[in-house]
Amino acid sequence: MLVTGTLVLAGLASAATSYRVRPGDNLTVIAQRAGISVAALKAANPGLRNANQVQAGKTLSIPNRQLPGQLHRVKSGENLTSIAHRYGLRLPQLLQANPGLNTHRPLRAGASVQIPGRNVAARLPSPGRLTGSPVVRRSAPAATLRTASIRVSSALSASGWLWPVGGYRYVSSGFGDRVLDGEHEGHYGVDIVAPQGAIVRAARSGRVLESRADFERGWGWTVVIEHPDGWITRYAHLSANLARTGERVVQGQPIGRVGSTGRSTGPHLHFGTYLRWNPKDPLALY
Ligand SMILES: [Zn+2]
Repeated sequence: MLVTGTLVLAGLASAATSYRVRPGDNLTVIAQRAGISVAALKAANPGLRNANQVQAGKTLSIPNRQLPGQLHRVKSGENLTSIAHRYGLRLPQLLQANPGLNTHRPLRAGASVQIPGRNVAARLPSPGRLTGSPVVRRSAPAATLRTASIRVSSALSASGWLWPVGGYRYVSSGFGDRVLDGEHEGHYGVDIVAPQGAIVRAARSGRVLESRADFERGWGWTVVIEHPDGWITRYAHLSANLARTGERVVQGQPIGRVGSTGRSTGPHLHFGTYLRWNPKDPLALY
């Protein structure tokens, strides 16, 4: 586990986010907004000359930030997912640094949580936009190396899939192997962090196969939609289901609300995609 942990960090260390320079930007301003030093920005963009000016329209690579470890004092209403999110960590990383924490028990306000030293994506230099888009943080399965972020150009992907929770792009747990309660398990979907009650929309049109409470398998309130070409989507841990079994739904139709029902440590949407019930990484579709 230590070895794979190190590999993942090594993979993340080289990750960067792209930023398209806007008129009026200069390196100092961009670095400041991204929360990194000008030197780090220059080091990540060897093509830059010494000048502080940079041409509008040019795409810069914004390197990740290295942050030291620290202690977090739990405030009321916080949970492990929200704390992990706040520090740019994936839940398994937070759990790994806190072997004593139990994901099934609420956190006590005032308790201390160890935040490990970490490598996080630079803040987006907003209000300047990325090459048009918000960022999806893509977490790496333990055994493989992937970059930390991918960009999504619009709510509707090139292949015609709609992101199920508009405005919420943060993925706290990716597709693949993960460690929960010290045990490895396959995670056949992505966990999208979003507030309780946020509207969940059908990623594509189709027919509702299942709309029910599924506590046996830990999904909580869940909606499953079958799409005409063999794809199936699952939306789990909902606080409310807004579509009935057998109902035909169109892409973008509200089908539920984000919640934390079933085996869940905080409000998020578990979004699973299957092709003829073979689990596929949802992020590969966006
Ligand atoms: Zn999940």
